[in-house]
Amino acid sequence: MKPGYMADIGLEIHAELQTQSKMFCACPVVDLTQAPPNTAVCPVCAGLPGALPVINRRAIDYALRVALALECTILETSLFARKNYFYPDLPKGYQISQYEHPLAQNGKLPVRTDEGWLDIRIRRVHLEEDTAKLSHMQADASDSHSLVDLNRAGIPLLEIVSEPDMHTIEQVRAYTRAQRTLLQYLGVNSGDLEKGVIRFEANVSVRPFGSKKLGTRVEIKNLNSFRTMTDAIAFELERQTSELDQGRSITQATLGWDEVNQVTVAQRNKEEAHDYRYFPEPDLPPLTITQTQISAALADLPERPDRRFRRYVSDFGLGAYQADLLTGDKTIADFFEATLSSMPQPDPTLVANWILGDLFALMNASSQRINDIRLSPRALASLINLLQKDRINNATAKSVLSKSFTSGDDPLKIIQDNSLEQVSDQKALTEIIKNLLSAHPQEVKAYRNGKTQLRQWFFGQVMQQTSSQANPAVIQELLDKHL
Ligand code: ADP
Ligand code: MG
Ligand code: ZN
Repeated sequence: MKPGYMADIGLEIHAELQTQSKMFCACPVVDLTQAPPNTAVCPVCAGLPGALPVINRRAIDYALRVALALECTILETSLFARKNYFYPDLPKGYQISQYEHPLAQNGKLPVRTDEGWLDIRIRRVHLEEDTAKLSHMQADASDSHSLVDLNRAGIPLLEIVSEPDMHTIEQVRAYTRAQRTLLQYLGVNSGDLEKGVIRFEANVSVRPFGSKKLGTRVEIKNLNSFRTMTDAIAFELERQTSELDQGRSITQATLGWDEVNQVTVAQRNKEEAHDYRYFPEPDLPPLTITQTQISAALADLPERPDRRFRRYVSDFGLGAYQADLLTGDKTIADFFEATLSSMPQPDPTLVANWILGDLFALMNASSQRINDIRLSPRALASLINLLQKDRINNATAKSVLSKSFTSGDDPLKIIQDNSLEQVSDQKALTEIIKNLLSAHPQEVKAYRNGKTQLRQWFFGQVMQQTSSQANPAVIQELLDKHL
């Protein structure tokens, strides 16, 4: 981006709501990467004439949850409307969407960036239905065709529209990650971008520094990963600032991202039709949200990830890095807190180190998520507690964790069955050390003459003779005494 300019970026996030059934029919919401195409379809979502939509109550609950978590004002009455356009992914010839009267508006999400916390204002949150999925097959120039999968048609889709409050790519990245984490926390979306369950549209403009007036924006559609989104925005910032630098102006446009050539391109399809002829959907009643529904949803909201992050830093004394890794995934944070609450002497830093270190390594090696593992928070708590009480040493704790992780056995039982308790017994260790020293008079002499590296060797010998179960502090103390 050329110097002397600033960027304004507003994002539209489209998130599928992973309800059991679709927005307006009883078809199941399936994993599009797994289900055979066109197997979750009925007359309603296939757009057959005369089929009638029915609002999915759970989709409303999910949408309400998100809107409230984003601190939005909920409109008492919102309206579904028909957005008319022709496209092969739209069997009805119109998409049911909320337009003039969305479900919710005027919210905000605090986002942590390198420069500190930044509030991104939310303009509106509304519900619509997803379109079918098109796959463009381009075997060769003479045979190019597209395939339609109606499994996606009618999946509830939540659109979250921000104000143009982001000014750098880093802020865009932080905001979209925060939204994704929030949707996962709320249990409404898996966050699996590679499955297409969250998609972005970016609105990008630039203006000379100091100018109060926003520049002319372009809208980039169909951005399906963090990577394509940030690449496309970076490209636009570069292009727009060079245009302005050369005295030209920006034309408002709808663009797509050409992945192969890494450039934005004008779209020549439906997105150019500005007149969608919106009108209220005659087959659906207005949607009313009662105060009771709002209170129930509010009472049910989990702690928001950003608040949890701040609490981990302020109450648990964790660093930002650890707090971020733990709170970035609700299931990890829940596991962490469940472990702490099973401990007689909760030590957040120690538990964080064990989870982010050894436990994550075991999970990675076995490709398991924390909810799938056999080790319970209680078992981890018990293991760390034995370590805190010096009943086992660090090396033993590591190997017991790995055993318990695989077998699901209780750490204490593993320790007792295998006699792994730490040897801190002064008498026994003194005996071992005395024998060791008298068996190696040469080394003792060398050590006393200044070859201090030998101390580590003596230490290793004691560990070996105790199958690594000796208390390291006690060995050091006894070595001090007898060497
Ligand atoms: P539309 O429905 O035509 O896409 P909206 O008014 O809903 O228009 O705005 C869509 C998005 O564009 C919002 O995220 C908003 O923040 C963003 N936006 C509006 N004006 C600008 C601008 N000048 N620069 C960058 N983003 C903008
Ligand atoms: Mg738009
Ligand atoms: Zn259906």
